[in-house]
Amino acid sequence: MQDPIYREAYPRLSVFEAGLSNRVNEVEFDRWLCRFWGPGRCVGELVILARTESTVAIDYWFHGPEYLRGRDLISLSLVAAPNGIDPTRQLFGCDDCKQGRAILAFKRGVWRCCDCHGLGYRSKLIDPQVRVREELAEIDARIPGGRRLRGMHGRTFRELRKRQAALRAQRGPFCEVSEAHRQVIRAEWLEVAKVEHMVHPGYEKAGDKFVKVVRPSWADDPPAPAPAPVAAKP
Ligand SMILES: [Zn+2]
Repeated sequence: MQDPIYREAYPRLSVFEAGLSNRVNEVEFDRWLCRFWGPGRCVGELVILARTESTVAIDYWFHGPEYLRGRDLISLSLVAAPNGIDPTRQLFGCDDCKQGRAILAFKRGVWRCCDCHGLGYRSKLIDPQVRVREELAEIDARIPGGRRLRGMHGRTFRELRKRQAALRAQRGPFCEVSEAHRQVIRAEWLEVAKVEHMVHPGYEKAGDKFVKVVRPSWADDPPAPAPAPVAAKP
């Protein structure tokens, strides 16, 4: 199968979601974990280990389809990208185009911006009816049975209801998304304290932090053969 040509099929790291867009905001690196979800299963995890003014060290592990496998501890560059609101704003520096980018995507072992990877948007490739149904399903899940769940702002609820009605009006005959456009990866940032268990094989949860597991060298040795059974004395 060919690699998908849209960005949503790849794990993406956002400089804003990772809390790296501002030098002033210090992130508590050992308390957050990014988990990536493919259709119905976790395809990887990523942890941010340390940061200097112009680099950030990440450790990631992906175990999905062929095009998104890999495990490494690498350093990504951060570049200054001041704007009118934030003079200390930072973005990732893409290694290929050398531009400041808010999002890097992981494809075949490398983190680059979506342009350098040649990735477009999934919404441009799928049938408009699939888009309508997918967005509608997302809204239905957020307001089950048209009810407002606790914690949701009244304004958000009203906007979702309005959008739901508009999408229902647009909904036409059932249309299924093609095989080539089914893969969608979502990133979820989790507070380690609330994580049940880590999927990342190099880490273990310890209280509200995670710790890197240093496996003793003998742990990789094949298990010793079981001792030969001792014949029972007559
Ligand atoms: Zn680039």
